[in-house]
Amino acid sequence: MRAACRGHSAAIFFAPTHFERKEARVARERQAKAVCAMCPVRKECLNYALRIHEPHGIWGGLNEVERRAIAG
Ligand code: SF4
Repeated sequence: MRAACRGHSAAIFFAPTHFERKEARVARERQAKAVCAMCPVRKECLNYALRIHEPHGIWGGLNEVERRAIAG
């Protein structure tokens, strides 16, 4: 209920089904991370994504590669 991404398009949090150029991905992820940065449930969101090994998208301000890095 308190998620800052409520009402935002999911398209900025997840890669499109078509090929996405690196610059487009970086810009899209920057937008999503800016939303996450002001989210009051960011920590809970990130912990959830780590717990379920979510393989896609920006969760808790981190993309899948960044989550894998901290999951070890
Ligand atoms: S931290 Fe999670 S709940 Fe909050 S805006 Fe980001 S994706 Fe949405």
